[in-house]
Amino acid sequence: MPIDATQPYDDSNIFAKIVRGELPCTKVDETEHSLAFHDINPLAPIHILVIPKGPYVSWDDFSAKATEAEIVDFTRLVGKVARDNGCVEQGYRMLANIGKRGGQEVPHLHVHIFGGQPLGPMLA
Ligand code: C5P
Repeated sequence: MPIDATQPYDDSNIFAKIVRGELPCTKVDETEHSLAFHDINPLAPIHILVIPKGPYVSWDDFSAKATEAEIVDFTRLVGKVARDNGCVEQGYRMLANIGKRGGQEVPHLHVHIFGGQPLGPMLA
């Protein structure tokens, strides 16, 4: 069920619990401000989620409220994950679902990285 991304951050969401170590994930990489892990329900041979560790629901929230250090850290980790997982040579897709009409289900900002196959114009 898509969420309303204009609502205040709810720190009981699944990704907040992963950040706090209360729920497991298959970690791909981690920095001071960001975390990358394999999507539990992969839609492509490579399907990795990159999230900021801070309490941001959406991209507009993150871009307005995060510190420059958090934004730089997150941006760099997205690129590093793509490079380290062989996405760059063959091409890949970055996607963030935001809010009700964007199909966002987890109310903590996350960028999907899809790769490892031809992706066509859109995945879904
Ligand atoms: O962008 P959206 O919010 O729709 O996607 C959430 C993603 O989080 C899904 O791809 C889902 O498989 C993934 N997920 C996960 N680990 C969880 C819960 C959800 O990787 N514990």
